[in-house]
Amino acid sequence: MRRKSRGEIVSFSTREEHVLQVHRLLDSLYGDNIGFLEAHTLGAYQLLIAVILSAQTTDRQVNVITPALFEKYPTPADLAKAKQVEVEHIIRSTGFYHAKARNIIGAGKVLAESFNNTVPQTMKELISLPGVGRKTAGVILGSIFGKPAIIVDTHFKRVVKRIGLTRQTDPVKVENDIAAILAAEYHYRFSMTVNTHGREYCNARRPACDRCPIAELCLKVGV
Ligand code: SF4
Repeated sequence: MRRKSRGEIVSFSTREEHVLQVHRLLDSLYGDNIGFLEAHTLGAYQLLIAVILSAQTTDRQVNVITPALFEKYPTPADLAKAKQVEVEHIIRSTGFYHAKARNIIGAGKVLAESFNNTVPQTMKELISLPGVGRKTAGVILGSIFGKPAIIVDTHFKRVVKRIGLTRQTDPVKVENDIAAILAAEYHYRFSMTVNTHGREYCNARRPACDRCPIAELCLKVGV
């Protein structure tokens, strides 16, 4: 595959080379200005709960209510003993608050009872917690524990398909497909930069291909 880029030729002969070029360019574009929620200010327990609450709402909305939540329930054991209505009152503005309250109290109970009040460090253990799927688990593994994690959310899935890095649509297959061609040490940062790129340029309805900084590396599949 070859692409012209402002007078120079950008080429990639394998999928491994293609994904690596995309990773390097996105990494240079977004630098450290990436990440979910305010992960750098949160511990593992707090980030876990914040990511569960972030479903179907904005990071900003979650950041507004988490200080009050963690002041009242500073540890998993505190949350495990919480009254559902009191948790619902605090998290109401994040939407789906009945189910979210049930899930975070349930997660607090499992953390307190099965993991000694700490957050486990494996995908298998993390997805055993109420309200925790592979995406949430990947955020915890990558941002808190520095472990390889490809986080397939709606932005990641859309962008890697358009770029031409995978033909898969099922999230787990997308994850495995990208993991097979990109070195593990890059997985988490690649997830973050692709997500950011999806928000900044490659949005669902109107991708900004005419001003996209990685256009020369993109096959624009389905665009
Ligand atoms: S060129 Fe268009 S389709 Fe490709 S990544 Fe950029 S915005 Fe998305």
